[in-house]
Amino acid sequence: MTTIVREPTRYDMEVNPRSPSDVRPDAASASDPSAAHHPRQDKKSLYENVVVQFDRAADVMRLDADVRKILARTKNEIVVNFPVKMSNGRVQMFTGYRVQHNDALGPFKGGLRFHPDVDLDEVRALAAWMTWKCAVAGIPFGGAKGGVQFDPSNYSGADLERITRRFVYALGDNIGPEYDIPAPDVNTNAQIMAWILDTYASTVPPHDRQRNIHVVTGKPIEAGGSVGRDKATGQGVVYTIQHWAADRGFDLRNMTFMVQGFGNVGAWTARLLTRLGAKLVAVEDVTGAVRNPSGLDPDDLLRYARVHGGVFRYPKGEFADHIMFFQTPVDIFVPAAMENQVTAETARWLHARLVAEGANGPTDPEGDAVLRERGIDLIPDILCNSGGVIVSYFEWLQNKRSEFWELDEVDAKLYKRLTQAYQRVRDKAIELDVDWRTAAYVIALARLETVYKERGIFP
Ligand code: NAD
Repeated sequence: MTTIVREPTRYDMEVNPRSPSDVRPDAASASDPSAAHHPRQDKKSLYENVVVQFDRAADVMRLDADVRKILARTKNEIVVNFPVKMSNGRVQMFTGYRVQHNDALGPFKGGLRFHPDVDLDEVRALAAWMTWKCAVAGIPFGGAKGGVQFDPSNYSGADLERITRRFVYALGDNIGPEYDIPAPDVNTNAQIMAWILDTYASTVPPHDRQRNIHVVTGKPIEAGGSVGRDKATGQGVVYTIQHWAADRGFDLRNMTFMVQGFGNVGAWTARLLTRLGAKLVAVEDVTGAVRNPSGLDPDDLLRYARVHGGVFRYPKGEFADHIMFFQTPVDIFVPAAMENQVTAETARWLHARLVAEGANGPTDPEGDAVLRERGIDLIPDILCNSGGVIVSYFEWLQNKRSEFWELDEVDAKLYKRLTQAYQRVRDKAIELDVDWRTAAYVIALARLETVYKERGIFP
């Protein structure tokens, strides 16, 4: 069911229920090299994955039955169909989403993605994961997510700007600096955040514009962004891996790793882990995979990927297909691309000690079970990739206070928060004798349960 719980705004928001079959193009197109490379899976309901994870933790901690009812549902679901006059003069219709899962702990917070697979089910799941993530990190935000369903690689920069601005206008006051704050996600970046800020600011009175720059985080520095936000998610992934290695008595300088996804999260994780002495031996992105048991230089690979649109045919490594990539012997696997990549099947292919979830929802519940059965450690997404939203929180605070923090200050604060969150999850897993994902959920749900008990349910 598609619902808008908030009143329609003065803008052109409308409800548009769509069936899942309506939404998803079957597979990558013939012009997309990934069509040959990745047998794309049938799209499973992502929100069902959230429900399985949520139920498991709610049962373990005996979550209050009323709070359970509230948290099992999203709060607001906004669907907008909006026209864009493209640079060729023709009008094209787009469908955009913003799902606000919960705001009991603070304003809604979560990324915006541009991808052909974006649909209500996916955005619902991603919004719920944001609620849990902010609660695990102990930052005063709720959870939301949004996106527009299209493939940005088929559009010029000028048209991307038009689509972005028109989407923000269509969302109207469903986003706002103290209400719901978007950030970058798949196929969106600092430039897109700057367009969002500029469009939003244009809809408020002139004297309020400077007071509203925290409507979005992940902005360019000059537009009010924070230093360290660009690398924050990868940096956070690396901090959690460092803690795991220390706990296990491993020296990262003797360890190998591979990343799936070589965008913001994957590339930063690869660069930062390599700087600590770990060896990158395989990378897969949407164009294909490369391997080199002697090690890949992530900076060189990134330069190549920027020129060639991906890692495919990188000359300093050998080609690997999807199965070979998953079967690469490594100590650490960092999925940093899309959801549902570690399944019952692919989890059996892995030869790794640790899966560190840079992406949101990369492991489905069946994949989780196989990892547990095989004794492969897992740092769950709602802990592992929380560095991004933690530094988004720092950016939001700096904007509100008209401050500018130096990189060492941002990094030190991120390290402290992530270390506390990591230790809480690890200790909870030991205390309850449960897997780390369930432990992280228990921590998040307990915070939410407390706030509902303190505030009560109106009226
Ligand atoms: P991005 O757009 O910068 O990069 C995505 C990468 O994934 C690209 O290299 C792309 O080629 C690759 N990819 C896409 N489909 C693939 C497939 N089927 N197989 C292999 N590779 C594929 O996106 P990002 O911001 O790095 O986000 C990646 C993941 O991390 C997403 O799950 C996102 O929600 C999550 N995440 C991002 C942030 C952030 O700050 N950007 C924060 C937390 C979590």
